[in-house]
Amino acid sequence: MNERTALVTGANKGIGQHIARLLAAEGFRVYVGSRDARRGRRAAEEIGGAARLLVLDVTDPDSIAAAAEQVDRLDVLVNNAGISPSLAPPTETGTDDLRRTYETNVFGVVAVTNSFLPLLRRSPHPRIVNVSSGTGSLTWSTNPNPQFASGSGGAAAYRSSKAALNALTVLYAQTLAEEGFKVNALAPGLRATDLNPRAASAGGDPAEAAAGAVRLALLPDDGPTGAFFSWDGTPVPW
Ligand code: NDP
Repeated sequence: MNERTALVTGANKGIGQHIARLLAAEGFRVYVGSRDARRGRRAAEEIGGAARLLVLDVTDPDSIAAAAEQVDRLDVLVNNAGISPSLAPPTETGTDDLRRTYETNVFGVVAVTNSFLPLLRRSPHPRIVNVSSGTGSLTWSTNPNPQFASGSGGAAAYRSSKAALNALTVLYAQTLAEEGFKVNALAPGLRATDLNPRAASAGGDPAEAAAGAVRLALLPDDGPTGAFFSWDGTPVPW
């Protein structure tokens, strides 16, 4: 039987590295996506086992094409790479901030997903996990940071990028349902990482969030698709 294979984008650190580590522990051959070869190789070595570097900048079409060439089949794609460069409300958000954020968090996911789709179609149980954010919900957020809290209007570029990612999750799920794909979005919860350093005091363990991603990566054939789940498996409202 073929070894199950997974790709995690932005896996050189943070939540992504934890997801890659847990998938490796589940027996997957894991591609550690990293736009920087040196840092990605170090992360893959830390994980050990069947983890290997895949140089991948999700905003660079040439990088995506070159990465896809190196993979022959994929069972799980975790679109984890993300950025949050601005905490401003929409009234103070320039279109450059929006564009930069969407390049990674939205366009990057579409470009990577579509390029790896032929490889996922070779899997008997293809799974796509989009690492979104509870702050991308239009109606729900438990984030204690004032800029991210529900009703605050802050972090407009980031939050609207995750809302767009959520919409695309549903549309991918609908488009690919008959081919057996499960496509779901994950709200990892507040985690202390470089993306969210202010979570250092309030944020939980990134490994806990990673377990939520792995649950969605291992969904059975009768499991949900086109849904939005918190790291602990509870549904999140759109
Ligand atoms: P980190 O900043 O620790 O990790 C982000 C990862 O994305 C890094 O590996 C980074 O690479 C990578 N990345 C950024 N841009 C690109 C790119 N163009 N191409 C490839 N990789 C890229 O943050 P987190 O681990 O916290 O974030 C992971 C995901 O979790 C994100 O999608 C984020 O939105 C989401 N999330 C995080 C929360 C939190 O509280 N931390 C809460 C809710 C959602 P590099 O090191 O090169 O910059």
